[in-house]
Amino acid sequence: MRNKEMLLIPGPTPVVDSIYDALAQETRSHTDSRFVAIYRNAIEMTRNMLKTDGEVFVISGSGTVAMEMALVNTVAAGEKLLVISHGYFGDRFIKLGEAFGIEVDVLQAEWGKQVSPSEVEEKLVNGKFKAVTITHADTSTGVAADLDALVPIIKKHGALVILDGVCATAAMEEDMSKTYGEADGKIDVILTGSQKAIGVPPGLAIVAFNLTALDARAKIKQVPAYYCDIYNWIPIMNDPGKYFATPPVNLIYAYEEGMKLVLEEGMERRYKRHSAFGKAVRAGLEVYGMKALAEEEVAAATLSCILYPEGMDDAAFRAALAKKGLILAGALAHLAGKAFRIGHMGNTTEKMLEKAIELIGETLNELGYSVDPTKAVDCFKKTVAIVS
Ligand SMILES: *Cc1c(COP(=O)(O)O)cnc(C)c1O
Repeated sequence: MRNKEMLLIPGPTPVVDSIYDALAQETRSHTDSRFVAIYRNAIEMTRNMLKTDGEVFVISGSGTVAMEMALVNTVAAGEKLLVISHGYFGDRFIKLGEAFGIEVDVLQAEWGKQVSPSEVEEKLVNGKFKAVTITHADTSTGVAADLDALVPIIKKHGALVILDGVCATAAMEEDMSKTYGEADGKIDVILTGSQKAIGVPPGLAIVAFNLTALDARAKIKQVPAYYCDIYNWIPIMNDPGKYFATPPVNLIYAYEEGMKLVLEEGMERRYKRHSAFGKAVRAGLEVYGMKALAEEEVAAATLSCILYPEGMDDAAFRAALAKKGLILAGALAHLAGKAFRIGHMGNTTEKMLEKAIELIGETLNELGYSVDPTKAVDCFKKTVAIVS
């Protein structure tokens, strides 16, 4: 393992050696048949992972570009968008929609809680919405959305489901062929980035549109975008030897390797592994008296937002851990200084998380608390074993 630090933040996530090796290959022409074959395979594997009957896009850009691409190709200026927000990243769709003249309405949960399905139903009964955005795992709060409850309600009212999977895709179930509720109750658009649960360095925006979403694009004459107009990319995705804008050749090498690892492990196993990691990390930290912001029933498999005990100095705590090689993230917005966030996704291993629990306990003791790292590690290991 080439990494010198454990990067356990909610993205970017640890990159494994085979992905670094792929990334470091010779940069070739984007029209070189050897590169084109790799790009084609990367696109095909993405399609297999998400199981869509429509189109997938793998292009340069961060997750935010993927959000923009999802939105501008489905909802036109003046049309209505309902945002279901479980935190900071859910809220990002409000700004995004407003930037394009979309009429945005929003249901914001108290941080750490879920928006209730009945509120969603009420909104949809009282207004004609073109689409609804759901953040699968909100990276600010560690709250997961309940797709089984939300998708059928949204589809019943004829709106498109746009799923932000930036902290979930490849780790929490996302299957575009799955029917939720009624016959055509499918997720219409899924978007993600390379650097979170897929475990590849940052830089790729990944989006999938099903046939219903493509139909929505067809009804918009001119979308207010050029780079993000899917019509500029469909020819390239179907024949990656064609040119629209230069693809990030080395990142595509890395992504192809990352997707091979994802599919080799298998989706069912990945969903189980992440679920086990999430439960076990939270159970282990609870031995130290540290609680997650989200209740266990709504907590995400991929990351946790953990509240500090009274009086903890966030900067000192995370700096001490950084010295030991463990990088954690601070909390966002009003929780800044009051909580930290830990990622447990992608190519993160059980060994890394075990070490992280131990180091956190050690550091708490150095800062004057009195906790038992052995007991916490034990609890972590037992929980992983039970769940997986
Ligand atoms: C990280 C993240 C984003 C934004 O992705 P960037 O790559 O930082 O642009 C959007 N949504 C969610 C849920 C995220 O976790």
